[in-house]
Amino acid sequence: MLSAVDPVTFGQNLILLIGALVLLGGALVLLVATWRGVKVLLALRAGRRARKAYLRAARRADGVCYPPAIEGTCTHCRRADRRIYFPSDSLEELCPRCYERYWREVEAGTLIPSGANRA
Ligand SMILES: [Zn+2]
Repeated sequence: MLSAVDPVTFGQNLILLIGALVLLGGALVLLVATWRGVKVLLALRAGRRARKAYLRAARRADGVCYPPAIEGTCTHCRRADRRIYFPSDSLEELCPRCYERYWREVEAGTLIPSGANRA
């Protein structure tokens, strides 16, 4: 049976088959590398977004960290909130809305902090 096959045609077919396998392997490697690259880019973008969200939640608009906070009641507006801030330069316990007004007034110089330093 094997003797009936033309050796030149067999060799050409074999080289063609090996070439096709090499091309398929190369295409597979390229596909996997592209997929991994896309996943890395997506992970980097998600990391940047998470970092921005964290900084937005942990820092004021001027870049300073928010003071420590726990759940409680605001001493200024008497509203309960999940985050009540304890400014280090005031004895008041402020909700996010009142604290936002408070630090902006302190920064602008229109409000002088009255409390002792808690730190
Ligand atoms: Zn308040």
